[in-house]
Amino acid sequence: SYAIETFDPEIFQAIENERERQTDHLEMIASENFTIPAVMEAMGSVFTNKYAEGYPHKRYYGGCEYADVVEQLAIDRACELFDCQFANVQPHSGSQANGAVYAALLKPYDKILGMDLSHGGHLTHGSKPSFSGKNYQSFTYGVELDGRINYDRVMDIAKIVQPKIIVCGASAYAREIDFKKFREIADEAGAILFADIAHIAGLVCAGEHPSPFPYADVVTTTTHKTLAGPRGGMIMTNDEDIAKKINSAIFPGLQGGPLVHVVAAKAVGFKHNLSDEWKTYAKQVKANASTLAEVLVARGYDVVSGGTDNHLVLVSFLDKEFSGKDADAALGAAGITVNKNTVPGETRSPFVTSGIRIGSPALTSRGMKEAEFEIIANKIADVLDNINDSALHAKIKEEMKELASNFVIYEKSIY
Ligand code: PLP
Repeated sequence: SYAIETFDPEIFQAIENERERQTDHLEMIASENFTIPAVMEAMGSVFTNKYAEGYPHKRYYGGCEYADVVEQLAIDRACELFDCQFANVQPHSGSQANGAVYAALLKPYDKILGMDLSHGGHLTHGSKPSFSGKNYQSFTYGVELDGRINYDRVMDIAKIVQPKIIVCGASAYAREIDFKKFREIADEAGAILFADIAHIAGLVCAGEHPSPFPYADVVTTTTHKTLAGPRGGMIMTNDEDIAKKINSAIFPGLQGGPLVHVVAAKAVGFKHNLSDEWKTYAKQVKANASTLAEVLVARGYDVVSGGTDNHLVLVSFLDKEFSGKDADAALGAAGITVNKNTVPGETRSPFVTSGIRIGSPALTSRGMKEAEFEIIANKIADVLDNINDSALHAKIKEEMKELASNFVIYEKSIY
């Protein structure tokens, strides 16, 4: 038989092991989440077999009638979710989505102004190792030492740089982003405003973070972070001319056939995001992150900007002997998965760093609330207070496994 368990036991075992890892550890990487089984069922469906180059009802292949149904549903639900006119649901990832925005709206070597990677921006916001820093002239703004964007300072930079496009949105920024202020800055500099809401999209669609619409000209997101859908990207706009350019930039510009099984899974994810249950979830994500920040502050840790408005907390160890890398490893040994992260005023290399980023979306999807986050935050502080005590880390790992066992996520690996 071609059932994976018997046909390919090595891969099957790795999948089983991964399910166990996801179950036993506390997943606190801010960009990760647990998707619902219905999303995984769509991803594992027969649509993986289908070529559907083009867009609904304008395809280059026959037999696309059901691919049209799923892509149109994904588009309609995305537009309803974010209250916008146009959506392209085909980008294979957030980076592809961002690449398509630049390809659609810029010429090579045009100027981009985005948030510095080491201050919380993403690689695709103009970082030198990324296509965005190679194919375009990139300039950056950052956060102040208090961990917040100073919009007057961004205005000054934008006036000097005169970029063609300003990118707002971040991968490690714990405070609300003021899209209206960014609009004013873009207008002053004569720039297009591009909002990348990959991290906060699940909060935005629930009304738990201000929307980039109507301020941004174009908006991208990933679908797998706070949105808890399948891995992938999406581009949205209210401008018909931009929408046309974006569609051509994705196909045939950057991609071939869409991943129709993933597009189907995006549609299922959006249905989840449109539910009342989702609003409750998004509120809880924020409440849990706040609890985490409050406990860490009470335990004497330097939480960047003093707290959080969203789903993540950035902790600085600039005042400590140990690094972000050390903290990441110690917490890993204690069954708590986070990631090392640069912090404002960073003194160490990006591979070592002086901070960690901790997120609440995944554990909130497991059903954890403030009470559990209070326990976990105290355990995180215990680990950090005793960074070299591997016996303590092992003990906490067992405790965290016990806590996690009360919040089952997946009964089986293959849907
Ligand atoms: N944009 C932001 C703000 C992100 O944080 C990320 C991923 O971390 C991306 C884009 C890129 O997404 P992907 O990893 O799907 O390419």
